[in-house]
Amino acid sequence: MTHHDQYTFTNPVTRYPKISPPIQDQPEPGLDRDLEPQTDRGEKSYRGTGRLAGRRALITGADSGIGAAVAIAFAREGADVALSYLPAEEADAQAVAEVIREAGQKAVCLPGDISDAGNARQLVADALEQLGGLDILINNAGRQIAVENLEELSDEQFEETFKTNIFAMFWITKAALPHLSAGASIVNTTSIQAYNPSPELIDYASTKAAINNFTKGLAQQLAPRGIRVNAVAPGPIWTPLQVSDGQPKEKLPEFGQSTPLGRAGQPTELAPAYVFLASSESSYVMGETLNVNGGTPSP
Ligand code: NAD
Ligand code: MG
Repeated sequence: MTHHDQYTFTNPVTRYPKISPPIQDQPEPGLDRDLEPQTDRGEKSYRGTGRLAGRRALITGADSGIGAAVAIAFAREGADVALSYLPAEEADAQAVAEVIREAGQKAVCLPGDISDAGNARQLVADALEQLGGLDILINNAGRQIAVENLEELSDEQFEETFKTNIFAMFWITKAALPHLSAGASIVNTTSIQAYNPSPELIDYASTKAAINNFTKGLAQQLAPRGIRVNAVAPGPIWTPLQVSDGQPKEKLPEFGQSTPLGRAGQPTELAPAYVFLASSESSYVMGETLNVNGGTPSP
């Protein structure tokens, strides 16, 4: 496997190994630090080319997984980054902040639970103040807890999943909007689950369908103001979400292997999609859901 950066000519089948993760458990939200096997968030491979020079980005769930890979890519592309995450994830967040600072960019760490409206609004205020403004908003935080039967899906879980995945997206976007000017970009993380729901992810998958719809509606509303809204729909990506009860444990060893590509994705394979949608090169792209899923057909 010769793989130097994201532009190196490679076979996507073998760019990353077909992993078979051991059965493991972490308390929610889970840490990249303790994940087995470890993931590639682009620390050693993502090469920036100035595509986001001078931009200021707020990324939720930026401590680990996809959000961490996006944060690292954005910094390498020249953006300053505010990282939102839960207080329990401080170790992961500090590791990502260090990579951002090594790239010569500002990293602002903003721990807090965004399933609370007040915290969500405070997050935006803090990011605006510490970055000196905002050009890019990445709504990426998410919560996924598998429950086999609807009778066992508690009212509390159902509500908490909706608050974290879609209510927070509304609160944060609404608070950020008065401060975004023409040229700004909003990117929401949805999922293949929006169209292909797993039977044990009833609450989670329905929030992802809502995110697709929210994205397409808001994109039309904001287009005349020059603010673009898009979404990225990942397929199975190896992240701490999966081991903190995101999947039934027996599914972990085969995670991602049923995709046409035959393997799970690595977080850094998502980063170029977010960079494309955040940068001005995608000026005529809005209301789009960019699927990055190893080949599973999607509408
Ligand atoms: P991850 O666990 O690394 O990231 C999710 C992050 O969400 C956490 O790091 C945490 O900081 C944040 N979060 C959760 N609840 C929060 C709360 N109440 N307040 C503040 N932050 C909170 O896992 P990931 O897989 O990188 O997930 C990122 C996004 O990608 C999520 O929206 C997830 O639904 C989506 N997604 C993941 C996959 C996959 O296979 N990993 C597939 C499709 C979509
Ligand atoms: Mg995390």
